[in-house]
Amino acid sequence: MSLTEARSQRRALGVPGAHGLVSFASNDYLGLSRHPAVLEAAGQALREHGAGAGASRLAGGDHALYAPLEQALARYKGREKACVFGSGWLAAIGALPALCGKADMILADKLSHACLLDAARLSSAAVLRFAHNSVEHARLLLEANRGEYQNCLIVTETVFGMDGDRGRLRELKALAVEFDCWLLTDDAHALGVLPPETSRDADIVLGTLSKAAGSYGGYVCGSAALIDWLATAARSLIFSTGLPPATAAAAHAALNVMNEEPGLLEKPLANARQFTALLVGEPAQSAIVPVILESNERALAASALLESRGFLVAAIRPPTVPENTARLRIAFAARHAPEQIGELAAIIREQGWVC
Ligand SMILES: *Cc1c(COP(=O)(O)O)cnc(C)c1O
Repeated sequence: MSLTEARSQRRALGVPGAHGLVSFASNDYLGLSRHPAVLEAAGQALREHGAGAGASRLAGGDHALYAPLEQALARYKGREKACVFGSGWLAAIGALPALCGKADMILADKLSHACLLDAARLSSAAVLRFAHNSVEHARLLLEANRGEYQNCLIVTETVFGMDGDRGRLRELKALAVEFDCWLLTDDAHALGVLPPETSRDADIVLGTLSKAAGSYGGYVCGSAALIDWLATAARSLIFSTGLPPATAAAAHAALNVMNEEPGLLEKPLANARQFTALLVGEPAQSAIVPVILESNERALAASALLESRGFLVAAIRPPTVPENTARLRIAFAARHAPEQIGELAAIIREQGWVC
């Protein structure tokens, strides 16, 4: 990777260094990574408990700060229990292989995040993929294949991270009931942005603490039986060191802020909708609005043009998105001002790009 590539990737990730630009490239939707209560909790945990957890959870590293974080997560998501992992990726590659094996099938939305598809492959279950958000295609695949397998897990996302649209959870739940499957949703871009009930229809909710929660780590929420099983069967939990205490404390403090400041949580979606209302497209369904430009060159040129006008917007290219769908991915955050949103929309309109 060239330095320019690495730098543009740093920029795409919203890493500080892009001085003076207004970033629409960060998943820190609520700005909680810098919230005073979050910093205070992290600092205190660091001083009290040190920098590292010291061991994996089952081998003596089950840090005292994990249980209260898990209780807060379970409460927030309205589930019996939660289990915290080292990252969202680790939660996925721990959970799916713990739930499904050779005799089972996993039916995943084609646009599911790479960690879900890798996790599905790792599980040694048969992996089938349905066309993005096509409940009809999912049904056809179930009709043709369900009978050959013991258990079946349907996998989707509450909000798709590169498209900003929502998974069709209610319809997929109806399919899951009809065909005796579990339904899992990845909540990475929904936590803190959409009401927690948005993922209600899923049996299993998987997510990350690295986006709106502003910290790091992953989690799975669900029934007590499910979580108790994962805690003994998920290999990424058993064989990997637990979260640093300060990271767990930061995530817990962020959840407290989510509970205490419901008005804050409404802002990213409201900002995205202010933006889409200024353009011709559909109203935003989440904090993410893509502008599809097809070729990598056009997407990179668009990102460079926006940068020259003071905006940091990531150009997302294959393999993160399908071939010929390179795009700008605009991520709205609570802190964006109406004028900034208006100016960005004006440039997009002036360039004739379509959301
Ligand atoms: C970011 C993301 C993950 C991975 O979470 P990390 O905590 O960053 O490993 C998983 N799924 C989706 C949909 C994501 O956007």
